[in-house]
Amino acid sequence: MKRDIIIAIDGHSSTGKSTLAKDLAKALGYVYIDTGAMYRAVTYYALQHGLISNNHIDKERLIRELDNIQIDFKYNPVKGFAEVYLNGQNIEKEIRQMQVSNFVSQIAAIPEVREKLVAQQRKIGKNKGIVMDGRDIGSVVFPGAELKIFMTASPEVRAKRRYLELLDKGEDVSYNDVLTNVLKRDKIDSERSASPLIKTKDAIEIDNSHLTREAQLDMVLDLAKKRINRS
Ligand code: C5P
Repeated sequence: MKRDIIIAIDGHSSTGKSTLAKDLAKALGYVYIDTGAMYRAVTYYALQHGLISNNHIDKERLIRELDNIQIDFKYNPVKGFAEVYLNGQNIEKEIRQMQVSNFVSQIAAIPEVREKLVAQQRKIGKNKGIVMDGRDIGSVVFPGAELKIFMTASPEVRAKRRYLELLDKGEDVSYNDVLTNVLKRDKIDSERSASPLIKTKDAIEIDNSHLTREAQLDMVLDLAKKRINRS
């Protein structure tokens, strides 16, 4: 019997989770949801509304304003995936900037922020047929997900990939700044008390430091098809 499943892809920063998740969703005809984009959207809101200044985040005000933050995904047929909107504005490009990356892990450590976003993520995935990537998808959002992948790669490989991606987008950054950001986000994400990044026992670990995009897709697609066809 064929059934729709939930595929959870978690792992460290810049491990190529979204590349794999997009490729998988396309191959399976599933919906892809980038939960990192949701935490980035809240961070972008905080930056836009003066809730972050001199490296200080006004957490109390942010929590009070959470009801004013509406996050939506809309499928872009040209790009082939759903883009993120904040209060009706497409912010897909803005949320990838270093300024957002520099604060997002602190914002994501706020329990009230997580509560709001996790509730929305569960709603989006309730009908299954979804590939969701993030840090806590297999551990908290969908602990019953039929397939859980935990992705990792060496920090240098990850920083290099992110650095080239940012250069390609025209951002003026240095490799060292990107490496520092990747390491800092890993540390905050793994050590926070609210839903820290962990590899669950039932997750399959993939180190893609030396894997091509095609090889990693083939590997996970094979696993997904086995789970989908299991009666
Ligand atoms: O996936 P991406 O690197 O865009 O995520 C940005 C940040 O959002 C992460 O560094 C992490 O702090 C946070 N995040 C999270 N839980 C998720 C997805 C992202 O805490 N499910």
